[in-house]
Amino acid sequence: MTSLPKRMSAMEFSGAGVPLRPAYRSVKLPTGRNLLVRVGACGICRTDLHVLDGDLPHPKPHVIPGHEVIGRVEAIGPSVRGIKVGDRVGVPWLGYTCGRCSYCRSGRENLCERPKFTGYTLDGGYAEFITADSHYAFPIPPAYSDAEAAPLMCAGLIGYRSWKLVRSARRLGIYGFGAAAHIVAQLAVHEGQEVYAFTRSGDRSAQKLARELGAVWAGASEEMPPKLLDAAIIFAPVGPLVPLALKALEKGGTLVLGGIHMTDIPAMPYDLLWGERVVRSVANLTRQDAIEFLALAPRVPIRPHVTTFPLSEANETIAALRAGRLVGAAVLVPDGAGAGAGRRPATKRGA
Ligand SMILES: [Zn+2]
Ligand SMILES: [Zn+2]
Repeated sequence: MTSLPKRMSAMEFSGAGVPLRPAYRSVKLPTGRNLLVRVGACGICRTDLHVLDGDLPHPKPHVIPGHEVIGRVEAIGPSVRGIKVGDRVGVPWLGYTCGRCSYCRSGRENLCERPKFTGYTLDGGYAEFITADSHYAFPIPPAYSDAEAAPLMCAGLIGYRSWKLVRSARRLGIYGFGAAAHIVAQLAVHEGQEVYAFTRSGDRSAQKLARELGAVWAGASEEMPPKLLDAAIIFAPVGPLVPLALKALEKGGTLVLGGIHMTDIPAMPYDLLWGERVVRSVANLTRQDAIEFLALAPRVPIRPHVTTFPLSEANETIAALRAGRLVGAAVLVPDGAGAGAGRRPATKRGA
């Protein structure tokens, strides 16, 4: 074990609509079944923006955001089993479940009544270290660098959980071609599905990435695809996409809403839903999703397109993500983090 500093730098939430604030926190040795993880990389997820905007109620006061965390275990609590110092782990959004409620007992811990979420009700990975419950940390396939693996932890996992509901579709639409979509597209193409990518109007770089990843068609969300779709997933937090996507669906088609927050869905004619079309949301993830997806990802192989930024530039990076100026996934790396974390690439994506 390398010697641990007494203090670490982090970026903390300081109120809805206010930029993140640099903060110094003490580094504490883990207790119980907790791990102390030195963060190598932490992806920025759209959910982080919803936390910052106050769209999600009751965050932990001064919470450190970030729930796509990859790092090395520096210390373990006395009750930790199966993970040792030096192991590389990923820490996802699901940080704790009660194990006792009816959802937990029926294999649906993603719907737990008393959950804790990393980077929302637990401190997350916009920091040099994170304390994580070892029961909710996962070994990371060696094929990925820290930065590449980071988006797998939420964009990948939520994308995978959404995709499982539409895996039998032949023609699959994906609305909002950001971090989650670019991972799901690779999975879907690998499984022989035709991918139709819908982006903001005029977002040429996202459409280009979609085609490079094997999408048969890429266009604006307001456009109709050349053929009706068997299923679609909406990752963009934009309610008006729901009637648009339903209009593009075959009878009996399924529309999955993959985001934690969405603007209001406008009133729409029943005709759009008629014909046994189904609309459903996907909430959080189970640990089983993580085990399945992290085994599957290197076999596809899924290659996340990431751009890394220093942790101290979190606010600027979030602004760029919000404005749609980033392609693929944005990943924060603690300033001064060493090899393996990846550096900012010369091109817009690649890392
Ligand atoms: Zn529960
Ligand atoms: Zn997320």
